[in-house]
Amino acid sequence: MSSYALSAVLLSKLLIEGKNCIGEILLGNDFSLRHREDIHVDASKLKLHEHPDAAREIARYDGEGNYRPLKTAPSLCRGWLLRLQNMEEMVLALDFFYPAALNLYGAWLEKNLKTTLLRETLNRQSGMYRVTQQISDEQAAALIKKQCHEGCLRKTLWMAMSDQNVEPFNMNKNEIPLLCREACNLFVAQARKVVKEEKK
Ligand code: SF4
Repeated sequence: MSSYALSAVLLSKLLIEGKNCIGEILLGNDFSLRHREDIHVDASKLKLHEHPDAAREIARYDGEGNYRPLKTAPSLCRGWLLRLQNMEEMVLALDFFYPAALNLYGAWLEKNLKTTLLRETLNRQSGMYRVTQQISDEQAAALIKKQCHEGCLRKTLWMAMSDQNVEPFNMNKNEIPLLCREACNLFVAQARKVVKEEKK
């Protein structure tokens, strides 16, 4: 079975369990997706899209037209409705909105999600990013708070997780979590800025 088909099976199961929210998106049992803040907006007032590729464009810019380098930043624009044909198309659209989110959660559920601690990620940086290895624990903690906890919807699993049996995040019952298994490139770039600023 392809990974899309596997994710479609997982998504069907999650929807049956009542998990119909992921990040800023509300999932419908009729293969629809919309911004969760548009839950009470009449469908006729939303811009209708009927192909999963539309998700790529919707996710590209925020409501003010600014490019969104981080797809899981809490800045998804409103005012659209994706009405798709089947679960596979929903999975494809979700992958444009939140890359690999379902795969990561599926691996997590199977206790098969590999995580990489922050220091390991930084220690393998080379070239212009090698300097990130000098970030202090305090600076890293401040950056995690700003970049990850305030500026991103993913749940960081790479800080102190050693036992996957311990649920490290609290979610509402209807939420499919967005997980982060290791610090992303944007985080590393910001870590470089922090260290460089310190050296000035
Ligand atoms: S490291 Fe993970 S949680 Fe932090 S900003 Fe990047 S994707 Fe989001």
